[in-house]
Amino acid sequence: MRVGVPKEIKNHEYRVGLTPPSVAELVAAGHEVIVETKAGTGIDFEDQDYVDAGARIVATAAEVFEQAEMIVKVKEPQAVEVAMLRPHHVLFTYLHLAADKPQAEGLMKSGATCIAYETVTSPRGGVPLLKPMSEVAGRMAVQVGAHYLEKQQGGRGILLGGVPGVAPAKVAILGGGVSGVNAAQMAVGLRADVTIYDINNDRLAELDMFFSSQIKTAYASKAAIAAAVKNAHLVIGAVLVPGAAAPKLVTRDMLKTMKRGSVMVDIAIDQGGCFETSHATTHQDPVFEVDGVIHYCVANMPGAVARTSTFALNNATLPFAVKLANMGAEAAMKADAHLANGLNVSGGKIRHAAVAEALDLPF
Ligand code: NAD
Repeated sequence: MRVGVPKEIKNHEYRVGLTPPSVAELVAAGHEVIVETKAGTGIDFEDQDYVDAGARIVATAAEVFEQAEMIVKVKEPQAVEVAMLRPHHVLFTYLHLAADKPQAEGLMKSGATCIAYETVTSPRGGVPLLKPMSEVAGRMAVQVGAHYLEKQQGGRGILLGGVPGVAPAKVAILGGGVSGVNAAQMAVGLRADVTIYDINNDRLAELDMFFSSQIKTAYASKAAIAAAVKNAHLVIGAVLVPGAAAPKLVTRDMLKTMKRGSVMVDIAIDQGGCFETSHATTHQDPVFEVDGVIHYCVANMPGAVARTSTFALNNATLPFAVKLANMGAEAAMKADAHLANGLNVSGGKIRHAAVAEALDLPF
């Protein structure tokens, strides 16, 4: 199959659909890979790296779309990209269609087969192609939290791990799923005083076993959360209710009880945020302050560590990309029901029940 990788064109998006090592895997499996020039330069993958991996470099995205049968990307296609999709194309990328009717209608009009990373499932449960980004965001949350706790960033002037003779900072993590656990691992590594709050008791038991005495766990009742935020120096919002807006766990009134210069990182901002005072921010202007508390609410945290994120994403997507290329989309999805769950649009129709329902379009 001819596989195409255009350069991402969304503002400040430096990730790329395939790394040079991923290209080499596809080429070794007998496929041709066409990469737009400079597709990876933002994260130090030069055209020569792709050529060395066996790819052919072309000058424009238009050439990639003209020549390739499958397009592998990171972000949802922008309008100019949607306009280049044809019925013979397979598009494999994040789509997030449920909140984007114009894109859904554009993809339907294109006739292309569009497989969304975010709805591919795993036999073990969960969504394996979203997981790496939650891992990145969870780990980054502690890094940015530590940064904004510094005095010159407006923070309280606290070192997460303390020092001998001075107590470490208290870190409250709301939600003990993928991002929450990864945040906890980083905070524990820095020797902070970490508590994870969740409403899933089985999950709390697993975390208790996994971290042993390195963390505390607590049921996420309103009272427990109110007490947690009052005492915490860093609060990390990492909850998810699949398919729904994030619950507002930290209210405006709770915020008033917090210490000045403490920091809140709302990872769940892409689902509306789990703090009442959150609103989405960007990497250019990542924080704002309410009642003396710093809020970091960047909706695409992995974009800041685009090289790590690209490798992490490729680790998860490559086996599916190879399967699609080897077998063709139809046969690959017939053989793998979890990959088939990724199908969002084909033949001009929405093919995913939840996406159709969210968009109020026929399924
Ligand atoms: P996950 O499903 O692995 O974990 C969510 C956890 O939240 C679960 O353990 C669940 O029991 C818990 N939970 C649900 N309701 C709760 C409540 N009321 N109180 C306490 N805990 C509750 O989810 P995840 O993969 O860790 O993702 C978390 C959020 O981070 C999602 O909204 C995801 O889209 C988002 N995310 C954001 C970025 C970003 O850049 N901002 C990047 C990746 C993921």
